[in-house]
Amino acid sequence: MKNVIFIAPPAAGKGTISEYLTKNHHYIHLSTGDLLRNEIKKGTNIGSEIKDIMTEGKFIPDHIILPLFEKEIMKIKDKPFILDGIPRKVNQADYLSDLFKKVGILDYIVIHLDVSPEVLEQRICGRRVCKNCGSSYNIFFETFKPQRENICDQCSGELIKRDDDNIETYKLRYEDYCKKTEPLIRYYQEKGLLKIIDANRKTAEIINDIEYVIGSD
Ligand SMILES: [Zn+2]
Repeated sequence: MKNVIFIAPPAAGKGTISEYLTKNHHYIHLSTGDLLRNEIKKGTNIGSEIKDIMTEGKFIPDHIILPLFEKEIMKIKDKPFILDGIPRKVNQADYLSDLFKKVGILDYIVIHLDVSPEVLEQRICGRRVCKNCGSSYNIFFETFKPQRENICDQCSGELIKRDDDNIETYKLRYEDYCKKTEPLIRYYQEKGLLKIIDANRKTAEIINDIEYVIGSD
């Protein structure tokens, strides 16, 4: 099975898909957020260096993030992996491509989850989370709606809208994402590694296409 690099806007469904691939196809999910949070939790030198950068939501410098991923990739190089949150820039993509060559990782693709801004907006604004058990719903999508309005199907808890599910914040993040990833998408397209997946559809359909491009069926 092919290794996967994800390029996707926030709320495109990357989390759900990664979880599926981890469970069903034994992928190792390497996400920037998880790796960094882990360093902070372990109280390493890197951890203390990045703590403030992360709380301020700033970009983690290359000299920290790249070796961190390199270390993890060296550990798992025989298993299929998903890179999530990296690369963000062309120089990082170059770094990874050299690293892969060095350690003999030849088979990888870049999956771009393509979602329209309208669908993303509905996913953000329609999201409701159970105050009690954390189950999540979406009032704009039939399959994700709770059975009773504002009440959790699992535990009858109250459903709330999270503060960060706010369209203004999201729009800023989305614009920033588009600006930054455009050169990256071009980079992988030129290398012939880019697979564009229409992620405006149902999760099952998206996963079906992804299983096809990773070569699992
Ligand atoms: Zn609940």
